[in-house]
Formats: sequence, structure tokens, C-alpha cells
Amino acid sequence: MTSTTLPGHPHIAYRGDALYIEQRPLAELAAQHGTPLFVYSKASMLSALGAYQRGFAGRKAQICYAMKANSTLGVLQVFAQAGCGFDIVSGGELERVLAAGAEPGKVIFSGVGKTRAEMRRALEVGIGCFNVESEGELEVLSEVAQATGRRAPVSIRVNPNVDPKTHPYISTGLKGSKFGVAHEDALRIYQRAAALPGLAVVGIDCHIGSQITEETPYLDAMDRMLDLVTTIEAAGIALHHIDFGGGLGIDYRGDTPPEADVLWHKLLAKIDARGYGDRLLMIEPGRSLVGNAGVCVTEVLYLKPGEQKSFCVIDAAMNELPRPAMYQAFHRIEPVSPRHGQTTVYDVVGPICESGDWIGRDRELGVAPGDLLAVFSAGAYCMSMASNYNTRGRPAELLVDGDQAHLIRERESTADQTRLERLVG
Ligand SMILES: *Cc1c(COP(=O)(O)O)cnc(C)c1O
Repeated sequence: MTSTTLPGHPHIAYRGDALYIEQRPLAELAAQHGTPLFVYSKASMLSALGAYQRGFAGRKAQICYAMKANSTLGVLQVFAQAGCGFDIVSGGELERVLAAGAEPGKVIFSGVGKTRAEMRRALEVGIGCFNVESEGELEVLSEVAQATGRRAPVSIRVNPNVDPKTHPYISTGLKGSKFGVAHEDALRIYQRAAALPGLAVVGIDCHIGSQITEETPYLDAMDRMLDLVTTIEAAGIALHHIDFGGGLGIDYRGDTPPEADVLWHKLLAKIDARGYGDRLLMIEPGRSLVGNAGVCVTEVLYLKPGEQKSFCVIDAAMNELPRPAMYQAFHRIEPVSPRHGQTTVYDVVGPICESGDWIGRDRELGVAPGDLLAVFSAGAYCMSMASNYNTRGRPAELLVDGDQAHLIRERESTADQTRLERLVG
């Protein structure tokens, strides 16, 4: 039987006329668990992680999975068992990583709006570092830490002011962004941090954006960061680690992001040239670890031929596949069991009462109602952004490991959705 892998998806392949993820046919998984259904390949996650690990071989490095990309416990567990730390952005994410078996010392806490309660809890469990994003936050964190009799390890998120050349909603390191502190204010803010009694300055961090597919923004950002390391250390403040954030893109539609190991060889050359090769290097990849590990399997409900446009209505929607509606993003859509007949150009849309509820535009498909489609690159920023709009239950999730399929999240029922609600009287 011929096996055809799809570019960028080494663990998802057609064997004959059936689409497989690792050793399991998607049609069989959908028959067993229903649709829409998210299915992730463990091998794919570990091979994406492996590229970073190769890049850092022989170095002091810590990979912190930015779990907002996909925060399901079973996914977190894969990364915790592989030795990863985690980049979290809320108290809820902290409880998730702890439940998944993370080592608290390998957890770093990012985000512009940490509350006092979140800070207290993070101090109590002993997280590795707070990535602080403003002066106001520094003051509050110092107060909270003093009240708990601890010193909070901090790094300050600096904006290197480079353009990552990605969608404006996922570009975060430019002036005028709500994230981080301005490059030119960094030294003064570091001096403030060093003087605050509840804080221990341990590092520096940045994160310039997401779905970055060129290496230049990274190389430029590294130069800007290393300049700051020099300035800050010259002022007598030691930086034990350099955290370079996440943001590496994936192949959604023939995109050609640099390979993690190739990119890091170049970045490490810069770090070594400046004499900082002995520092602990930290990174926060999200999408690049999980994005292409997952597909969403969905059933074609209806075909609506039209004069101007024909629609293919599927049972998945912007609830669980929000990226097209949010960022006009592209997801590859392929039949799970291809037919060999006539094709039609469709807009692939979900059942939600919003014109923004489309999943793919102008796709040439040969399908009939009842057929299954696989929406690719659905491992990142899909289920973690899923909502219950239109009182739709969130899909089930499976983690496939070779020929084993583990149910890592049950399909949400209507009772699950209304559990916290109360009638008036
Ligand atoms: C979202 C985020 C990341 C991960 O970004 P990806 O594009 O998914 O790699 C890393 N660091 C911070 C601070 C983030 O907000």
C-alpha cells in the first residue's frame, strides 16, 4: 500500500485511500468517538521538541512549553515527562501544569495582568521565574513576596522593537504593543527591580510575536537583547538567564519557517560571540511544538450549491477552530477517505449564526454529505481557545501514540455546560 505523507505533517499520511495519524485510521477513531474530534500525534510533538533539544545539545538550556497553545492535561503531561518546563499566563494555567506533573521550578509566569492572588499562589508553589511586564507589576510583586516572606525571582520582558512580519494580532514586540517594557526604559526598570526588597533579579526575556517564518527578526531581536544584557550587567545587575520567548512558525500553507535547530545554531553563534554562552538559555515555544501534531476531524453535513458560491457545511465551527475568524488564518482541509470523482469549489463553513464562521474559503473538494474531512494544523490555538457559543459542547480530544489512542478529554455535554448556572427561583 502506498503511503503519502503531507508536507509538514510527518505523522499524518494517506495509506491507500485512508488518512492515518501514526498507526490509526482517522475514520475509525471518528466512528468510535464522534465528530468534531481533535486527534494529536505524540510522536509529532516529541519530534518538534527534539529539534529544539538538538539545537541546544551541550548547552545549559530550558525549554518552557507555552501552554496556552494547547493546555489539555494529557498534552501537558507529554511535555512534562519529556523534561520540559512551562510558560504560563494565568493562575488557572499554573494549576493545570501542577496537575500534569510539572516541576514548579521549571515554570515561568508571563502576562501583563497578573493578580495578587496569582502571584501569591505562584510564590507558594515555588515557580522558577516571574516574567514581569511593567513597573507597576514589579512594585506589587515585591509587596506580595515580602508579605509571604519570600523573594520573587524576576525577569523583565523587554520589547526589542523588531517587526516579526506576522499578523498584527500576533505581533507583540513592537513599540506601542501592550506587552513588555520599552528597550530604552529597560535599564532604569532593572535598577528599580534590583532595589525592591521582595525581588531577586534572575534574567531577561522577550517575545516578539507568533507564527514567525523568517529568521531575520529573531537575529535582530537577539542583537538588541544582548546589547541590553551588556548594559544591565555593566550597571552591576547580574543576569543568570536569557529567555528568548517563543513564536517560531509552522507550515500551514507551504510556509517555510526555519528549523528550530538550524535557527538556534545561528542564534547561539551570536550569543557565543558576545561571551554569553555560559548563561542559562530559556525559550517559550508554543505553536511550533503542537500546531502540526493535531487535526480536527469533522463531518460534512450539507452541500449548498449556489450561483456565486457553493458551501460545504461541516459540524465543526469557529467554537473549536477560531483562527480563520480571528486572523483570517488558513488551515489545510483534506478528505479522510478521498473520492475519485468530480470536485467543486466550496467555502467550508460551520453551523454557527455568524458570517465569520468559516473554516476555509474556495477549497476544491470532492465530497458528499456524511464524508469526513480533516482540518490540519489544529494542535495549537484551537481547543485552548474553544468556546461554547451557540451552546455547542467542546469536542473530545485523543492522543495517539503508535497504535494506541488515549482519550484525553471527553466530549462536553450540555449538562457540563449548564452545571454552574442557576434558575432564578
Ligand atoms: C504566546 C506566547 C508564547 C508562545 O508563542 P508561540 O507563537 O505559540 O510559540 C511565548 N511566550 C509568551 C510570553 C507568549 O505570550
